[in-house]
Amino acid sequence: MTELRLFNSLTRQLEIFTPVHAGEARVYTCGPTVYNYPHIGNMRAYVFADTLGRVLSYKGYKLTHVINITDVGHLTDDADTGEDKMEKMAAEKAQSIWDIARHYTEAYWADIKALNIRQPAHWSIATDYVPAMIAYAASIAAKHCYELDSGLYFDTSTVAHYGALARAKTEDGEGRIEQVDGKRNAADFAIWRKTPAGETRQMEWDSPWGKGAPGWHLECSVMSEALLGLPFDIHTGGIDHREIHHPNEIAQNQARCGSEHSGARFWMHNNFLIERSGKMSKSSGEFLRVQLLIDKGFHPLAYRLMCLQAHYRSELEFSWEGLQAALVRLKRMVMANRKWADHLKEGRMTPGDSWEHEQVTNALVANFNMAVSSDLNTADALTVLEATLALKGTAPECIVTAVDHMDGVMGLNLGRLQRTDLRIRPKAAIITEDEIETALAARKEARAAKDFAKSDIIRDDLIAKGVEVMDGDPLGWDWRLDI
Ligand code: AMP
Ligand code: ZN
Repeated sequence: MTELRLFNSLTRQLEIFTPVHAGEARVYTCGPTVYNYPHIGNMRAYVFADTLGRVLSYKGYKLTHVINITDVGHLTDDADTGEDKMEKMAAEKAQSIWDIARHYTEAYWADIKALNIRQPAHWSIATDYVPAMIAYAASIAAKHCYELDSGLYFDTSTVAHYGALARAKTEDGEGRIEQVDGKRNAADFAIWRKTPAGETRQMEWDSPWGKGAPGWHLECSVMSEALLGLPFDIHTGGIDHREIHHPNEIAQNQARCGSEHSGARFWMHNNFLIERSGKMSKSSGEFLRVQLLIDKGFHPLAYRLMCLQAHYRSELEFSWEGLQAALVRLKRMVMANRKWADHLKEGRMTPGDSWEHEQVTNALVANFNMAVSSDLNTADALTVLEATLALKGTAPECIVTAVDHMDGVMGLNLGRLQRTDLRIRPKAAIITEDEIETALAARKEARAAKDFAKSDIIRDDLIAKGVEVMDGDPLGWDWRLDI
């Protein structure tokens, strides 16, 4: 089988994937901080991690995937300044942190489901691991940490090659990390943050360094080690994590297991989804979350397809036009897939024995395999999928089996989606689908009776309500709502 090559951010090179444990793949993905809804850029990170997981399963590895939920410890600044994001939101909303965390975790899981992201083996919740974090910090404190009034800090000069992942020199920390009084090196970071004297935090725990809360970087080191063992195979996250969060995790892993030990063999990072109007900012009014796409009438899998159309290491620019194009593409695939499934149902089998069919199917799947094995080239993989759907003279059973295989990796649900699921249905539409269908039926009647004046009135009325009538649309759409 074609070897799987993945881009390792540690070496900035493509490397052949060989598992730490034969036949297994253990993957850790930095999950969301549940202080607010995730935006669609955040969700790109999980579509990427899901695609990686699906490819690993497809290549025959027994996958153990962990995604964490950060419900404590992430400051408004990735370094050690600013407030705890959870505490801040809880104060703003006058709610308990636990309620905030529950609400936004559920919202995140709804997006996970909408994008057909598979459930990982474990959702690790940071607050469940606080005793393990304290034990972990205690085990490295003597050799690698020092205490200040504000907390326990990791001394980055105690491990070799700190920041190698970011390709930054330690002094570069100077500019990017606001100084905390007493820090020995600019890049040093808190692994335990003490509750300031006279204050009470909603979330705080007793520790050898006083009451307080764990640092964000500590959480991922502890949960990945606890659930996957060190070293594990692949650690993923957005490209911003390559600069601070992951170098800090690596430093902790080194402290725990030795300097040559980054903790994971591969560190993989997705590039950003960008949006130029600022709508992805969580503070903007109508901010871009999966639910907004749904409210505007788009099936969320159109967004999944949009992500897959780009390579995960490239920036991807979001636009509504781009999303609409992805939706049309998805619809074409769904319709072609349905045609082949119908051929099969109607018993239009092609002669040839099962061995021959298997050979044909394998040949179809081989190109797809090459694409996904080449650092998850989903853009090429989609082209192969479409070419398979467009084949002529090939046995339908071979096409259906091959497409099933491919869609198992792409996760577009081609077999289950209906053409009508992909109609654009804005929540704010002032006309219902039934009303549109009734008006269109009346228009058809008027046209049949050559009453073109009436047919035009119906059409104009529909236009006024935001409905575009699409006579002779090649995709079989007879109407669509303006967005
Ligand atoms: P956070 O909840 O802020 O920790 O972010 C969750 C994940 O989304 C992390 O892996 C981030 O690196 C990633 N991320 C944040 N912004 C974007 C973006 N615009 N595009 C893609 N990934 C992002
Ligand atoms: Zn993390």
